[in-house]
Amino acid sequence: MHPMNRPLKEVDPEIFGAIEREINREFNRLELIASENIASRAVLEAQGSVLTNKYAEGYPNARYYEGCEYADEAEALAIERGKKLFKAPHINVQPHSGSQANMAVYFAVLEPGDAILGLSLSSGGHLTHGAKVNFSGKLFRALSYDVDPATYCLNYDSIRAIARKEKPRLIVAGGSAYNRIIDFKEFRSIADEIGAYLVVDMAHFGGLVAAGIYPSPVPYADFVTGTTHKTLRGPRGGYIIATKEELAKKVDKHIFPGIQGGPLIHVIAAKAVCFREALDPSFTAYQKNVVANAKTMASELMKRGYKIVSDGTDTHLMLVDTNTSKGLTGDICAKALDRAYITANKNGIPFDPKPPKVTSGIRLGTPILTTRGMGEGEMKSVVELIDRVLSNVADEKTMVAVENEVKALCKRFPIYEYLK
Ligand code: PLP
Repeated sequence: MHPMNRPLKEVDPEIFGAIEREINREFNRLELIASENIASRAVLEAQGSVLTNKYAEGYPNARYYEGCEYADEAEALAIERGKKLFKAPHINVQPHSGSQANMAVYFAVLEPGDAILGLSLSSGGHLTHGAKVNFSGKLFRALSYDVDPATYCLNYDSIRAIARKEKPRLIVAGGSAYNRIIDFKEFRSIADEIGAYLVVDMAHFGGLVAAGIYPSPVPYADFVTGTTHKTLRGPRGGYIIATKEELAKKVDKHIFPGIQGGPLIHVIAAKAVCFREALDPSFTAYQKNVVANAKTMASELMKRGYKIVSDGTDTHLMLVDTNTSKGLTGDICAKALDRAYITANKNGIPFDPKPPKVTSGIRLGTPILTTRGMGEGEMKSVVELIDRVLSNVADEKTMVAVENEVKALCKRFPIYEYLK
């Protein structure tokens, strides 16, 4: 047999071991990272397929290489399903990531030095919305709006006032830690008033939009960008919806040849599988449970005296102000939870005086627990476990006891049984 047929276990036991250990980690821990999910076996199979071998620069039926007929099939399916899912006139499924999706959009309609206006990082925006350390803050004049200091929700009057004063060329709505319904119509009217482009980054809530349980930005935005690996539950990657024909042409050119070379056809095939799964009615039921679970988690935490930013959630995620609730930094809380097999990330809260490596809060999300099949009862148990850890961060006995309860709970809601 050709040596290329040898299995990973034999060829590279170290990498094989790392993957085995990751399977065990995902199986045995409560994953509350709001930006993650568990892709299906079908998605993993497509992503791990021979399509990784193929160069397919260009777009379906317009490639620079021969032999692209099956790559074309895969990408055409991803496009057709993506358009159907989001009721969109045009979708580009080639962005390697959400960041690249945003980069291509900016490059398509802006010149270096143009002003962009996005939600500040500390109010829950993403790095690509104009953070100083990011290309978006380096190449463009980045302006930001914050959440309202009283409600911690968006205040459209103050966003409009900034837009009128600064006249940005482009406005970005959406974020990584904002969990309330966004009024896209308001954003459209603000953008129209100053002749700016409107980009909605639905990387986080795209799965909820696909399921029809969060308002769609497609009727209002010039561009909608997103990722397939968060609530959408697909492979790691990005996509761009363009709502006008001339913008579609521009943005396609700025993905390839603008900022990317050969598309990741294996990932695009997996995106097609993800979109197919998301078109199934069971996906709507799943997303409803994701939000119901997040609401239960937030209200159970509040019942136990925790401060939740904006006092609740409309989506899959929430920010817990651990400093106000427990006098603990986000960093200490995330590390203590991790020790007890509960995985979450520290996260700045709006107007956080603490630096990003410390923070005053943690971000919690329910996509993974819901994929595992957990519901209201389990959310209550999980909150009880979180509370025990955060009330005893330095007590190893508590950690061991919670770890054992987490493992027992995870055993009742298995994942990836076929890999065991
Ligand atoms: N946009 C938002 C709102 C995000 O939350 C993220 C990722 O966290 C991105 C863009 C970037 O996605 P990626 O990590 O795939 O570059």
